[in-house]
Amino acid sequence: MTTENKPVRVRFAPSPTGMLHIGGARTAIYNWAFARATGGTFVLRIEDTDPERSTEENTQIILRALRWMGLNWDEGPEVGGPCGPYFQTQRTDTYEAALAKLIEAGEAYPCFCSKETLDAKRAEAEQTQGGYAGYDRTCRSIPREEAEARIAAGEPHVWRLAVPEGHGPVEFEDAVYGHMSFPIDVMDDMILRRTDGTFTYNFAVVCDDVNMGITHVIRGDDHLSNTPRQVLIYEALGAEVPLFAHLSMILGADGKKLSKRHGATNVEEYRDRGYLPEALVNFLALLGWSLDGETTIIPPAELCRRFSLDRITKKHSIFDEKKLDWMDGVYIRDMGAEAWVAAAKPWLAQTNIDGSNVADGITVVPTPTKEEQQAAAAVTRVPGEGVDADAWQACLADVDDDTEFYQAMYPLVAERLARMDEIPAKLAFLFWGDSVVLDEKSVQKVLLKEGARADEALAICRAVLSNDDNPWDAEALQELCRAAGEEAGLKPKLLFQPLRVAVAGNMVSPPLFEAMMLMDPADVVARIDGVVAKVFGEGDGASDGAAAADAVS
Ligand code: GLU
Repeated sequence: MTTENKPVRVRFAPSPTGMLHIGGARTAIYNWAFARATGGTFVLRIEDTDPERSTEENTQIILRALRWMGLNWDEGPEVGGPCGPYFQTQRTDTYEAALAKLIEAGEAYPCFCSKETLDAKRAEAEQTQGGYAGYDRTCRSIPREEAEARIAAGEPHVWRLAVPEGHGPVEFEDAVYGHMSFPIDVMDDMILRRTDGTFTYNFAVVCDDVNMGITHVIRGDDHLSNTPRQVLIYEALGAEVPLFAHLSMILGADGKKLSKRHGATNVEEYRDRGYLPEALVNFLALLGWSLDGETTIIPPAELCRRFSLDRITKKHSIFDEKKLDWMDGVYIRDMGAEAWVAAAKPWLAQTNIDGSNVADGITVVPTPTKEEQQAAAAVTRVPGEGVDADAWQACLADVDDDTEFYQAMYPLVAERLARMDEIPAKLAFLFWGDSVVLDEKSVQKVLLKEGARADEALAICRAVLSNDDNPWDAEALQELCRAAGEEAGLKPKLLFQPLRVAVAGNMVSPPLFEAMMLMDPADVVARIDGVVAKVFGEGDGASDGAAAADAVS
């Protein structure tokens, strides 16, 4: 029996033993999207039965990560619902009731075999039969009265499922793997309740899925081998077996199971690195599912309309962080200034802090090596962490108070960001005031380059930029500078690169004139003057002067 034509009810059932990992997040996304696409119900159930590893804190982390991704659940912790409670530790009475039903029907029996006895049987079977085929059912033949008497006398026991004699192969339908069939002879009479009264995972999960009316079980394929056992429990309970969908593993770029070695593996690390939740959801959805094999940008709302189980693939998927960066960049590019400021707020505040902190007059800093750049990019720097609390609050408030100013930064970087955490490095120069942090290589390659006439270029631009008669308008100023440069025989590149270095500190800033519109004109002129003095020596214009050598030593 499978559950077709019934309103869809699916669940995400994390064990709160740590962070929400990428694999779990994908499982949650598929359940959520499937519920939305079918007008069904998405249930969240916390499987907190491991007393040592399940903590309230971990539960909160998981709820927070799901909320951040926008995966709202219809029933579960904090929202309640008709099938609660939604924590396994609070559902013991339902497991007791289900077990009582099985006992009543003769589908479960007590087993008094001690651990030592079972270990000895296992060791013997391994020697004489080349392997242990599971529990030999010794206690299954104990007469009921005798068993009851031994229980009443307090003899330790577990409860086992009595797998029906003559049961054929265990079969079920899987939306990913198709029709599955497992030989019955490898299924022993599994334990349902342990000696200490706790229930096994397989039993609890089936009881919950039955009592919560779950129609489709979408989960990682690490649970595939549990499924035939669970099917036997469904059958014993006389419950409908849901349709399963087991999701293949996510691998790192090297083809190995995704782990810490590959970098960030949990959802909140991605949040802290400045990925947009929509981009992460889109990206994870495509790890094992596709709309048509081609479309890559499928925003969450569309995913909720188009998701289907039949397009889940059995193949392992590869977590390609470069693709995630690209995708995040697309979402940033398309989100618009208003949404960007809202989403980027902590990084914009950080940009302000970084800019105002770092600059003190005109300084030259060594260009980081490629390795240093990569190492810095790999570190998750949570905005506001390690900075003065008051200063931080002031910078956050500034973003709210001066939204227009911050929104005007969006066009400067909209097409140049892969993640929000790149914002401070790209835009801190806007907050330097009249100071400049000069990148050493840019000084060498642009300002001090033989025959580049950088000092002349700066003088020409300074004259245009400091002239109050000129409008403070990007296009007009650029044109005026260009014309003045042309008159002096300086091509645009030779004219503008020195200006870029003098104002933004290096050769790779966002569009320069647009950026200058967000700065105080007096600061722009002061930066040019300061850099000229530092690099070329006050007023002497000599590119090989002592000041220049000093500047980069
Ligand atoms: N709690 C299980 C886990 O976190 C999931 C069980 C299930 O989905 O059936 O792996």
